[in-house]
Amino acid sequence: MNRQKAEKKQTEISVIGSGIAGITTAFHLGKKGYKVNLIDPTVNSKINNLTPKNGTQSSLGVLMGNIYKRSTGRAFSLRNKSMKLWKEWINQINYPGSNFLFEKPFIKLASSEKEYESMIELSKNKKEYGIELLDKDSLDFWNSIFETKLTGGLISHEDGRLNPIQLIKLLMHSLDQIKINKIEKNVIRIKKNSGSQNKSWRINLENNQSIDQDYIIICSALNTQKLLKPLGHEILLEPILGQVIELELENKNENWEKWPAILNYQSINFIHQHHNHMLIGATVERGTNPSLLYKQEMLKMNNTAPKWIAKAKIIHEWSGIRAKPINEPAPLLKHLEPGLLINTGHYRNGVLLAPACAEWIELKIEENNIN
Ligand SMILES: Cc1cc2nc3c(=O)[nH]c(=O)nc-3n(C[C@H](O)[C@H](O)[C@H](O)COP(=O)(O)OP(=O)(O)OC[C@H]3O[C@@H](n4cnc5c(N)ncnc54)[C@H](O)[C@@H]3O)c2cc1C
Repeated sequence: MNRQKAEKKQTEISVIGSGIAGITTAFHLGKKGYKVNLIDPTVNSKINNLTPKNGTQSSLGVLMGNIYKRSTGRAFSLRNKSMKLWKEWINQINYPGSNFLFEKPFIKLASSEKEYESMIELSKNKKEYGIELLDKDSLDFWNSIFETKLTGGLISHEDGRLNPIQLIKLLMHSLDQIKINKIEKNVIRIKKNSGSQNKSWRINLENNQSIDQDYIIICSALNTQKLLKPLGHEILLEPILGQVIELELENKNENWEKWPAILNYQSINFIHQHHNHMLIGATVERGTNPSLLYKQEMLKMNNTAPKWIAKAKIIHEWSGIRAKPINEPAPLLKHLEPGLLINTGHYRNGVLLAPACAEWIELKIEENNIN
């Protein structure tokens, strides 16, 4: 074993929070050879969206990486990098028989002339990203589905969806393969050790247990502020809620095979599930209580809902909370002090941006170890 590899094996890192930010950070650091603990009271809980344990399990897993108007800046590079990394990572986490796929494409329908004008602009600027305007046949198809006369729409061939439940299960399986230690506990407190101690940080867990570590990566969404305040780091986050509804449609639609991975119309995502089931979501609501009004508005679609939605039966619904940074752009990627980093504040696009954010953390640790 070379010296660098041996040093990494000696470097102990705890990742706090096992949502998508924490799991992918642990995965990436583990692959690079670090000794990693992933700490979360729900780390071994059943992964599902019937009773989602965190923002990630509530998510729809839509990846809109390419359909983005900017071509420079931090947000663009995180998206761009993540879209490339997801392709590699899906190959790494799949095992014989798992057949996990990046479902594509993504179609967006314009709800106004103005929206269509910006789609025309995007299709010109992002042609090489696989984005083009919908042709007449496609528009006719969507007109009949939504019983309307649409101005236009856009298809992004390389955007789509990662089913979040399958994704988390596969990532968790990969964490076991690369020997990430999962600790099913709540972190109560983190503090700095004195200079004379071997490891710089102490993590206090519930039941009076504690572990000493070289690095701590905080990926605990809204709870991040509570863990950091005693250390003098003021991180401000507010809760943003999202709702998803699963509908059972009255008739089996023979057009399912034409349905893309994601259809987005009036800012609502429509995801065809098996048989005549459809997921619709997600809302963006301030606070922590799901509002009936938002749900009703989503179902009414500005009083343009087609009959198949109006007649559908709600068979399941859920909501999830995500952490939005106050006065700062999401996500929060910060190296707060030696050995203490955060990867949080993913109120939107947390699944999309996860690989690039995990890589950012690893590069910071690498830089720090070299200096
Ligand atoms: C309805 C809905 C739909 C969405 N759709 C999409 C989408 O289509 N595409 C997309 O990219 N994003 C989507 N999102 C956003 C995405 O879900 C979030 O950005 C992402 O899940 C945030 O992940 P996270 O790891 O930061 O937080 P979380 O998934 O919330 O995980 C935080 C974890 O930290 C743990 N934790 C907290 N405190 C402690 C502590 N003291 N000790 C130990 N562990 C702790 C919690 O138990 C939790 O498991 C959606 C969100 C919702 C709610």
